[in-house]
Amino acid sequence: MSTRKKIIAGNWKMYKTPRESLEFLNAFLPKVHDHERDEIIIFPTATSLSTVIDRVRGTHLRAGAQTMHWLNEGPYTGQTSPNMLTSIGATHVLLGHSERRLYANETYEHVNLKIKAAIAHDLIPVLCLGELLVDRQGGFTRDIIMAQMGAALSNIPTENAKQIVIAYEPVWAIGTGSTASPEIANEVHSIIRSQLEWVFNAEIANNTRILYGGSVKPENSAALLTQPDIDGLLVGGASLDPACFAKIVHTKY
Ligand code: PEP
Repeated sequence: MSTRKKIIAGNWKMYKTPRESLEFLNAFLPKVHDHERDEIIIFPTATSLSTVIDRVRGTHLRAGAQTMHWLNEGPYTGQTSPNMLTSIGATHVLLGHSERRLYANETYEHVNLKIKAAIAHDLIPVLCLGELLVDRQGGFTRDIIMAQMGAALSNIPTENAKQIVIAYEPVWAIGTGSTASPEIANEVHSIIRSQLEWVFNAEIANNTRILYGGSVKPENSAALLTQPDIDGLLVGGASLDPACFAKIVHTKY
């Protein structure tokens, strides 16, 4: 029986102004105020992040950024640095999300630099991994996951690895309505856990939370969360509505 506390996280992508974020939280917080079974984290868009952080202060919810640069400052128009995030109270950061890899040219090397920067700034990195449909169809899921993990976790000291959260998000399941079956997801999660043992050690492998993401909804959350290697959910579209996201938080497992 695992003692890993599950995480239910909402990735709001490029949705919700600060005012819409507050409307969401005013409806959502009363529904989850006494729910301490799981960690709940919201990843709003950059312009809503400090509004969300201020609104959840004093509650058990946490908030983080959807990406960041690895440097503290510099001539990088449009970027946000790790110390800018910690200065407003962010605790987490999503790194290597497939939409960043696909549309913002985030390379394996960038993801590695960002993981190291997050650790150095005491931000909890949520490292996203996932294969394309063509990779899965070609039988390359394991190779892709290994390559993404190998690059992202290169030269991370074992004592820092316990800070890392991983999210397995098959790209073909994100925003498409087709979820990986709980068994398929669990199979990849257990590959990730074995690789954590190989790269670090058994303790890190046993303690690392590995979330599943990709078309999660209230109808499939229980089947996913009852899998032995699924330690939480990273929810996109279904986290935008307070009632729907609260249902996922209250999943019986
Ligand atoms: C995501 O963007 O991380 C995600 C999992 O999206 P969705 O739940 O909408 O598939």
